[in-house]
Amino acid sequence: MPAEIPTVTLNNGVEMPQLGFGVFQVPDAETTAAVSAALDAGYRSIDTATAYQNEPGVAKALAASGIERSELFVTTKLWNADQGYEETLAAFERSRKLLGLEYVDLYLIHWPAPALGKYVESWRALEKLTADGVVRAIGVSNFQPAHLEKLAESASIVPAVNQVELHPYLQQAAVREYDEEHGIVTEAWSPLAKGGSLLGEPSIQVIAERLGRSAAQVVLRWHLQLGNVVIPKSVTPSRIAENLDVFGFELTDADIAELNKLERDERTGPHPDEFNAV
Ligand code: NDP
Repeated sequence: MPAEIPTVTLNNGVEMPQLGFGVFQVPDAETTAAVSAALDAGYRSIDTATAYQNEPGVAKALAASGIERSELFVTTKLWNADQGYEETLAAFERSRKLLGLEYVDLYLIHWPAPALGKYVESWRALEKLTADGVVRAIGVSNFQPAHLEKLAESASIVPAVNQVELHPYLQQAAVREYDEEHGIVTEAWSPLAKGGSLLGEPSIQVIAERLGRSAAQVVLRWHLQLGNVVIPKSVTPSRIAENLDVFGFELTDADIAELNKLERDERTGPHPDEFNAV
């Protein structure tokens, strides 16, 4: 039996698993097998997006799992091209149907796309979805403090979550501080920095060896002990299981300090101020 996954309480009282499963860049045809492996391993939170074009693959795995809907936590995201009030309502309905769900647990604006100038009206649509009872929580992704400030000028609901690129090479101190001050949970995307050179860092290797754990597990513990929600992605069953097996050990304060030293302000993805692709 896999260990119980801790939850964080969102600002509207909804409980969200602190560790979930991401499916970015997984082709739809492979997504069902990956999500089924994750659900079998014990994950209950799945992170997809319109842009990933694999909501149907997620839907098949959810339906085949036989897991009660109330035990699942499904996140999807509004793509930039669908921003705008009416467009957002229509895009959400498409996602909801593709996922085969009555409601979505967390719906996020994927990017602020500031040059489009539409995230405030898109947020108003997410508030309407909340009132309609078809989402349990709403949030944003890739929002810098300035974008959150602009939203706050007219929003009646504070975002529950801000999902941003976050790992030891990009620790996002300013975003995390803003989120914490405003009751917004920070969720880390690419928590393993896409499985690249971060996992070969000598300081992480030393800690991993001492604990008899993998580098990926050490990095995931760093996130969990900071309070981040994490959504590592893998299509490899052994890694899917390994990334969930992170609740039986702890990093010391000195270990955390070692990982903190790896900050380089280095992104694997675009800067949110500049990304306006549709
Ligand atoms: P991750 O940091 O999760 O890294 C995934 C990569 O690391 C894959 O290549 C995977 O390989 C490899 N990997 C996974 N586990 C291990 C392990 N234990 N040991 C060694 N290598 C490992 O990157 P992602 O970019 O996928 O981010 C995670 C999720 O975050 C996405 O899937 C998506 O849901 C979300 N995301 C959101 C974005 C946003 O704009 N909101 C942007 C990007 C991601 P393999 O699969 O071959 O096993």
